[in-house]
Amino acid sequence: MRNARSLTTADDEHDPEGSTVSLDQARDSALLAQAERSFSELSAARQRLAEGTYGRCERCGRDIPTARLIARPEARHCVSCSR
Ligand SMILES: [Zn+2]
Repeated sequence: MRNARSLTTADDEHDPEGSTVSLDQARDSALLAQAERSFSELSAARQRLAEGTYGRCERCGRDIPTARLIARPEARHCVSCSR
């Protein structure tokens, strides 16, 4: 990205049809941050699995329903506690 910006021909800041380099960079940064969060949350879930606490709500201690775990494998809390 930084290399593309240094090449003057790759600068599309003034192209009314295209997205800007800054916008692309912001989107890429947001996607990277999201991927890092997901990786971190899934790593934590894997740790809970190894410890035998996976699927147990960290707040109330009750089992997290299977449907919720299928939808959000990284879930730390049951639906009630996540509100
Ligand atoms: Zn709970």
